[in-house]
Amino acid sequence: MYALLRLARLAGATAPDGLETAYRELLAANACGGVADAGGRRAWSWDTDQTLLQMDGAHRSLEVKSEVIGVAELVNKMNGPWFNRFDEDLATAFSIYCGISIAHSLLYKKVHEAQFRSHLANEMMMYHMKVSEEEVTKLLVTGIDPVKEIHPCYAEFTYTPRSLPDDTTPMCVLSMFEDMGFINTYKIDLHTLARFCLMVKKGYRDPPYHNWMHAFSVSHFCYLLYKNLGLSNYLEDIEILALFVSCLCHDLDHRGTNNSFQVASQSVLAALYSSEGSVMERHHFAQAIAILNTQGCNIFEKFSRKDYQRMLDLMRDIILATDLAHHLRIFKDLQKMSDDGYNPKSRTHRSMLLCLLMTSCDLSDQTKGWKTTRKIAELIYKEFFSQGDLEKAMGNRPSEMMDREKAYIPELQISFMEHIAMPIYKLLSELFPGATELYERVAANREQWTKVSHKFTIRGLPSNNSLDFLDQEYELLQSQGAFGSDDHCLNGCLDDAEGGRGQ
Ligand SMILES: [Zn+2]
Repeated sequence: MYALLRLARLAGATAPDGLETAYRELLAANACGGVADAGGRRAWSWDTDQTLLQMDGAHRSLEVKSEVIGVAELVNKMNGPWFNRFDEDLATAFSIYCGISIAHSLLYKKVHEAQFRSHLANEMMMYHMKVSEEEVTKLLVTGIDPVKEIHPCYAEFTYTPRSLPDDTTPMCVLSMFEDMGFINTYKIDLHTLARFCLMVKKGYRDPPYHNWMHAFSVSHFCYLLYKNLGLSNYLEDIEILALFVSCLCHDLDHRGTNNSFQVASQSVLAALYSSEGSVMERHHFAQAIAILNTQGCNIFEKFSRKDYQRMLDLMRDIILATDLAHHLRIFKDLQKMSDDGYNPKSRTHRSMLLCLLMTSCDLSDQTKGWKTTRKIAELIYKEFFSQGDLEKAMGNRPSEMMDREKAYIPELQISFMEHIAMPIYKLLSELFPGATELYERVAANREQWTKVSHKFTIRGLPSNNSLDFLDQEYELLQSQGAFGSDDHCLNGCLDDAEGGRGQ
């Protein structure tokens, strides 16, 4: 019996209470015994995860999926000539405890191994994403540029951040951190911040739409909200910082396929997260945490334990809110909050507002000029149709909007804008009078889709994957003054040579 208990411990587990009790009862019955494996050796085989018990006189075999993993044997009863029924029952109970204990130990060992493998994979991934010290030094060599130097209209709603060259975007992120006062308020180390930004940029893949340029433009919109809507009157400082950092991280490692595709293709991500829902969003958050945990990248390292926990909780809630399914679930509550009047003292109101602001940032391409909206549609459908092609190759039927043979883009766009985008910016303008122009621009873009729809006689995208032909119509209307004088503020047409670089 000593040997058995020792084995249970060797396997990494302490003997469960029941095992100890059975052991003591066995001693009380003055029995002595031993434990052997199926071959009679005093050892155990460890390939198990379920136990069964078979009776064989005073022997008790421990079986795993019909495979014997060991035998418990009672020999030489000390206070009697033979074992009675009571001894057998006791040995049965004892063997069951042994089996369960061993099974638990083996599972525990497997979980440990899986954790180590996952750490190893993470370590390798982080190694390959590594940001060199030269990159960090180079980024910081002339200090942080003031936002005014990026563009005179950089802080205006009409500015299109996608017009910036890809290699200037890390500095722009630093400029926004500085301009919002985060570096000072939170004593963020500049090298850590630079490394974090470069690391986040590297954490994005390059699908047509869900790439770094998307994350950058979403973050820029958060900056616009801060500059133009007086967010400080609505949210705590730490919440605004969490929103901005979440914007940067919210689509990390996006693969250009959506949540239902993960489930249908039985991807590793679905295996990890599908039981909780929002598969991709959970992965984006996990990637954000992995970056923060990488040496020299933790921009929150000076936070108190309490603030650090709060920051991570906020980031999780905000990133999970980028799942449009989540947005649709809370929309009624958001509407009610707006109808009742927003109360900045209410934590529930603040966390709901954060979700709405995050969604507004995520869809902010729709608040820019027509050319941006049109170009974004091009990128999104390119990504959607690639997923549709994969689904077809898997023998599944893609949804209409992912099927290049069925999707009628103007109709899908109009439906998306009417049912998702416009209500979001409408709500935003109810909560922030300064956001009215955003709603108006989304509504104008929706109108423009109606105007160009007659030119759209095809399903899917043209063979050159471009919607450029829609702009002739727009330019004609523009030259006739159809959009007033506001339009000239929309800098950085995405068709500029520079503008395409980020895609
Ligand atoms: Zn996004």
